[in-house]
Amino acid sequence: MSTNQHSHAIAQKLDRQDPLATARDKFFLPGNLIYLDGNSLGPAPKAAFADLEEAAHREWAQNLIGSWNSAGWFDLPSKSGAIIADIIGAQKDEVVACDTTSINIFKALHAALSLRPERNVIVAEAASFPTDLYMVEGVVGTTQTKNIRLEGIDAPEIEALIDEDTAVVLVNQVDYRTGKVRDVGALTRHAHANGAIIVFDLCHSAGIMPVELNQHEVDLAVGCTYKYLNGGPGSPAFIFCATKHLADVQQPLSGWWGHQTPFAFNQSYSPDPGIRKFLCGTQPILSFRAMQAGLELTRQYDMGKIRKKSMALTDLFLSEIMKFAEEYGVGLASPENAQDRGSQISLTHDSGYEVIQALIERGVVGDFRTPNIMRFGFAPLYISYQNVVDAAAILKDILETEIWRDPRFKQKSAVT
Ligand SMILES: *Cc1c(COP(=O)(O)O)cnc(C)c1O
Repeated sequence: MSTNQHSHAIAQKLDRQDPLATARDKFFLPGNLIYLDGNSLGPAPKAAFADLEEAAHREWAQNLIGSWNSAGWFDLPSKSGAIIADIIGAQKDEVVACDTTSINIFKALHAALSLRPERNVIVAEAASFPTDLYMVEGVVGTTQTKNIRLEGIDAPEIEALIDEDTAVVLVNQVDYRTGKVRDVGALTRHAHANGAIIVFDLCHSAGIMPVELNQHEVDLAVGCTYKYLNGGPGSPAFIFCATKHLADVQQPLSGWWGHQTPFAFNQSYSPDPGIRKFLCGTQPILSFRAMQAGLELTRQYDMGKIRKKSMALTDLFLSEIMKFAEEYGVGLASPENAQDRGSQISLTHDSGYEVIQALIERGVVGDFRTPNIMRFGFAPLYISYQNVVDAAAILKDILETEIWRDPRFKQKSAVT
């Protein structure tokens, strides 16, 4: 048997034994596409189409304003939040879906500062997804908190930056670029030992691995639903606040949806006592309706099984890639050990952008992150082991033939 046949035989066996194999059929995936970009935008769950049809033709067109009550539109942020809570290990009344991750970071940071008014330092990661840092800057511009300490600039490890002056620590559970995973429990304990509040960004972990916010006693968290939760383009984000903080915490975007009695139309603001205090204004209902199917779908599956398959998929991809990586100048930017990474493998290559474009043309969709990272996400609900072996073989072919050198692969689009 050639190595190629051997890899295919292994993949077929793993696919036959895969307890999640049938989930793939619940997604619409065009043709023979190998979609390794669910970490940027998840595919459409088939059930979402019927929901959208119903939301447009019956709820909106027929029932109009009555749908706020009859179709439960007004409760969608809490109802969706309760499903997300199940997925991330929180109580149902600790999460609402709303707004965008960026906006929720702003609210969460302010909320954390409201719990630690005597402290003036925000700790974050220099390698964070940039919007997280931009929002930190925005918060600094609107509060007395003037000190930002960044892991990677002010110290190599974040732990060293947390002390008795630290009000809040903002960190990603999974690094968007490399896939490196944080120990949520250990970092939370360290923050708490120093009296700081911790906010986790779950954009690259929610839906793909156990988060267990309550078990680790996390204070606040945010995340998006259009990546591994398959909520659709621009679907609402979410925000979590631990029950013990709900009574005291304040967020600055005091809009009417966060009011205790929005339809009393009082002249002054008094926040909802529960998690709805994190709402601001009217939510994008059609996007909420598109999101339901993805959330329900993920909740059906055991997160332990999802994580197990995720590690096996990335391990298989890595072992296939390592057979030829060195020969073609491909490096590994993700942790070698599956326990230490999320559901992605990031590879480096000097012409990574062009290689990714050539892969897309061959039906393997990954993405490029500056300066030289090729990112491949492996979502266990719709990626098979056969997909993994095929993607690696196509990558090898592109590197071997150097087809990526063709000028058509150099053109940059607005979104990469
Ligand atoms: C995707 C992502 C975001 C996205 O923020 P939006 O406001 O939803 O555009 C934020 N933070 C991280 C870490 C992400 O991966």
